Amino acid sequence: MEGIARFEADVAEVFCLADGGADFGAQVFPAVDPETLALRLAAAGDSTIRTAFNVFLIRQGDALTLVDTGYGALAGDKGGQLPARLAALGVAPGDIGTLVFTHLHGDHCGGALVGAVPAFPAARIMMHAAELAHWTDRDGPASAVIAAHAGRIVTVAQGDAVAPGVTVWELPGHTPGHIGLRIGAGLVIVGDIFHSAALQLPAPETATIYDVDPAMATRSRKAALAEIAAQDLVFTGGHAVDPLKFARLRVDGAGYRAIAA
Ligand SMILES: [Zn+2]
Repeated sequence: MEGIARFEADVAEVFCLADGGADFGAQVFPAVDPETLALRLAAAGDSTIRTAFNVFLIRQGDALTLVDTGYGALAGDKGGQLPARLAALGVAPGDIGTLVFTHLHGDHCGGALVGAVPAFPAARIMMHAAELAHWTDRDGPASAVIAAHAGRIVTVAQGDAVAPGVTVWELPGHTPGHIGLRIGAGLVIVGDIFHSAALQLPAPETATIYDVDPAMATRSRKAALAEIAAQDLVFTGGHAVDPLKFARLRVDGAGYRAIAA
C-alpha cells in the first residue's frame, strides 16, 4: 500500500507509515560541502535530499502501539496523511492503546492533536522523562501536546517495556529525551539518529541543525549504527525513505551503506 512498509519482527508486526515527506535544504547539514553533498546523493541514486515523516504502528494481536504521530496539520501538505494510512490498515484512532513519542519535535507530535483535542483518545502516552521536562512550558506544539494529555503521560527510561518485547533505547542528543525502541531480538526503531540516510550513513559524524546537542547526538548516532551493523539488526527511523524503510547496515569505509531488509 502506498506510504506503508511492513516488517514481521519476532514479537510484533511493524508498519512504517508515511505521514508525509519533503526535501531538506542543504543548510540542514551545514558540515557537508556542496561537492561532498552531490557525491553522496549520487551514490544513493538521489538528486535531492529526500526525507519522509514516518510513524510506526506495532501490532501484537489486538494490541496496537503507535510510535510518533507525524506533523498532523502543522506543515500543510508535507504531512497529515497518518489518519488515512491507519484507516487503510483498518485501524481507528480509538484503537490505539499506547502512543510512544521518540521525541517531541513537531514532525513527530503534531498529529497527536486535532485542534486542541487528543487525536488518539484511548491511548496512554509514553515519553522519556527528560523529554517531558525539556518541553513542558516551552512555546510550541510539544507543550500543547503535553498540556492536552495531562494525567495520561507515563515517563520511561532505558530498558523499560512500552509493549511486550518492546523496550526503550536511550539515544540522547537530538533532543534531551530522544529514544529509540528495541523490538524483539532483530528490529530497532532509531528515531531521529539520522535525517538523511544518503548523507549521514556514509559519514556518521554528520550532524544536523535540528540536533539540540550535536556532539551528543553524534555519539548516539555512532554507537547505534555500530551496534546495528555488528548485530546485523534491521532498522527503521523517523526519516527513512523508500526503498530503505526497513534496512540493514554494512560497514563501508569509515561509514555504512544501507541495504533493504
Ligand atoms: Zn524528525
